[in-house]
Amino acid sequence: MKLASVKKAEGEFLLPTYDRLQILVDRGAGVYLYGADGRKYLDFLSGIGVNALGYSHPALTKVLTKQAKKLVHVSNLFYHPYTAELAKKLAGISGLDRVFFTNSGTEAWEGALKFARAYAQHVNKNGAEPRWRMLALENSFHGRTMGSLATTGQQKYQKPFVPLMPGVEFVRFNDVDDLKKKFDHTVCAVCMEPVQGEGGVRPVSKEFMQAARELTKKSGALLILDEIQSGMGRTGKYFAYQHYGVRPDIVTLAKPIAGGLPLGAILTTNAISESLHPGMHGTTFGGGPLACAVAVEVLNVIEKQKLLARNAKLGDYFRKQLLTLQKKHACIKEVRGMGLFLGAELDSADLAKATVTAMLEKGIIINRTNETVLRFLPPFIIEKKHIDVVVKALDQVLGSLAAKQAAAL
Ligand SMILES: *Cc1c(COP(=O)(O)O)cnc(C)c1O
Repeated sequence: MKLASVKKAEGEFLLPTYDRLQILVDRGAGVYLYGADGRKYLDFLSGIGVNALGYSHPALTKVLTKQAKKLVHVSNLFYHPYTAELAKKLAGISGLDRVFFTNSGTEAWEGALKFARAYAQHVNKNGAEPRWRMLALENSFHGRTMGSLATTGQQKYQKPFVPLMPGVEFVRFNDVDDLKKKFDHTVCAVCMEPVQGEGGVRPVSKEFMQAARELTKKSGALLILDEIQSGMGRTGKYFAYQHYGVRPDIVTLAKPIAGGLPLGAILTTNAISESLHPGMHGTTFGGGPLACAVAVEVLNVIEKQKLLARNAKLGDYFRKQLLTLQKKHACIKEVRGMGLFLGAELDSADLAKATVTAMLEKGIIINRTNETVLRFLPPFIIEKKHIDVVVKALDQVLGSLAAKQAAAL
């Protein structure tokens, strides 16, 4: 198969929703992705944070093939051993009590919004004022389905699909005064990503997170955190909220949880669980034996190989190298992020786009998000030498693009 023929067929038979990089992927191994033409790429995007243990990790492949031979799917009308095993592990590392499994990030976020509404009705039984408004953050990203979209504070995603779910208001990022102004007793939930991913790798400030926790706690509203991109150890702790000293009421997970298989999760409290009963929510595929068995193994590997401490240390190193580059290249406006969830904001969208393309030509995969931000989401199995390769290439690319720009003036 050649890229040209696949492109032609996709152009004919697929919906035109993706702007793909010009690589026909054949296979992956460790930190590398291989094109059908045999070219090897160092992957610092890892499937947008999904392939947290790299490609074809032997421990995951072993569980995957063994379970595939035994049982791939059974409906949620039956028990199988891995949902409970995985839920217990997730409760243990999160400090939350209970789990609902989904297939994707947006499905987890939809469920979280539904649970917030159900909980508000449940505690409001005695006829108090209705409480159903939700506050979300400007520039956020929570997924593509209607509820998720309604809480996604970016016009470009929402506009073609209005009208959306009513009752959502957006708060200016890290603006405590704006939060206080918009929060009142009609709010049932404050929703946010502790680190905005799609929105340009922007960590919420400690002050803002703690203000949201205090306001919601006092009034009985919920704090819902989207850790679909930041969760499962990427930031150097299992969950980004653990850097903030807060315990949320609901947390959503997805991307890396099953090492590449589609799986998401909603983590929540016993109190919220009491507002739910059989039949109120469900899914056909979510929490299946194959994805859950692999996810248990993902957590085993993270624990056994002490990857949290490693992610924190490598992340620090990577961030320092990027800050050094910032001193040298005036086009880097800011370096942000936590652990191995890092972004470098450049001073123009065209430059960021050209940088991603030039890095790809050097055999390195990174990504651009929110127009101007280079995003780095490497797998947890990278080594210091891989960071050095990426930083050196970035140094060269930014240098030569700046020289080109100067010559054009
Ligand atoms: C990717 C992402 C989603 C959506 O997940 P899907 O699996 O694509 O539906 C939601 N929230 C955040 C923070 C994400 O990064």
